[in-house]
Amino acid sequence: MNRVLVLGGGQLGLMMAEAAARLGLVVDRYDPERALLLPGTSDLAVPVTWEECLERYPVVTVEREAFPDSGLSARLAASDRCVARGALAVIPDRQTQKAMLDDLGIATAPWRNLDQVEDLAAAAAEFGGVVVKARSGGYDGRGTWIVGDGGDLSAVPAEELAGRAIVEKKIPFRRELSIVGARNPAGETLFYPLTRNWHVDGILRLSLAPANACAVLQPEAENILRRIMEKLDYAGVMAVEFFEEDGRLLVNEIAPRVHNSGHWTHEGADWSQFDLHVHALAGVPLHSLNVHGPSAMVNLIGTPFDQAWLQHPGVVHWYGKSVRPGRKVGHANLVAPTLEGLRKGLNAWADVLPEGFEAILDSELALD
Ligand code: ATP
Ligand code: MG
Repeated sequence: MNRVLVLGGGQLGLMMAEAAARLGLVVDRYDPERALLLPGTSDLAVPVTWEECLERYPVVTVEREAFPDSGLSARLAASDRCVARGALAVIPDRQTQKAMLDDLGIATAPWRNLDQVEDLAAAAAEFGGVVVKARSGGYDGRGTWIVGDGGDLSAVPAEELAGRAIVEKKIPFRRELSIVGARNPAGETLFYPLTRNWHVDGILRLSLAPANACAVLQPEAENILRRIMEKLDYAGVMAVEFFEEDGRLLVNEIAPRVHNSGHWTHEGADWSQFDLHVHALAGVPLHSLNVHGPSAMVNLIGTPFDQAWLQHPGVVHWYGKSVRPGRKVGHANLVAPTLEGLRKGLNAWADVLPEGFEAILDSELALD
């Protein structure tokens, strides 16, 4: 096998194609909105038929969870060539995702269905603070409403959401962590160390890896991700986001794809998450994985490219997308010998980081 088709026309597929080219493999991308094929990292879009896809691509992967209902991408995502087929039947709907985790006995934030308007007040009475989440279609905090204990529930469009949302208990977490790992068709697995993630308004702004003080949590996180990948008979890279509360992990959500919180692996590990994904799909045997030292990933969001960044510590990855407020348009990766060194380097990026990032670094440094 040397050809993979990735469904989605965004930066994740682009970074897979880039990794594949370096590894002597081919990843082409299918843009479902434009119904066009993008060969490798090229922007030269060409139409493609179902028959051509069957002939050309023995393996289909995805860079996102949802596709237009009709059309080639939906057909390919449901076909037995798609290594994420099992995951796509469960994960895009938060209700079925949470139910699967309950069935597996994996801890998550306690939750209820929001079937009717009254369910919201009942959940708030039971949980205190609540987080309402649309069952499908949410990302980067969209489709999510957070109401603290005793807060104003009328800010949630409960009528509109009834039957289409879940309500979770708002978790007073110590930190947000994620694990990124890969599984190949033979069932072998490989994991990166847990990563500390800082979200502001539901959008990832900064990742630090390896997260500090994770000796007990790492095996638990690996075990959780391994069980999920096995249950879904998955191949490729998958990520799980966690809340750390009282020394244990609660799963927030699962991403059946390469993940923003794994972007640090480009400079921070000898094999990136994109290399691992392509290798897993190509049936390359699992290999060793070395992490280079404390790494940080700063998301570049809704900002034009600034040449001054080229003088900052770190490496800029730029996606070539048009700039819109709130849109992820690139990221910067930094690696340093120590977390303290990383802290110094990150100061240069203060203008693209939200206020309060120093406190996140301090809290990470203070853990043992
Ligand atoms: P993604 O873009 O990663 O798919 P999303 O916007 O779809 O994210 P979540 O990851 O579920 O949705 O939520 C976004 C953020 O909101 C989380 O990273 C966390 O900071 C906060 N959050 C979500 N659920 C809870 C909860 N139950 N308790 C506390 N905070 C929460
Ligand atoms: Mg998330």
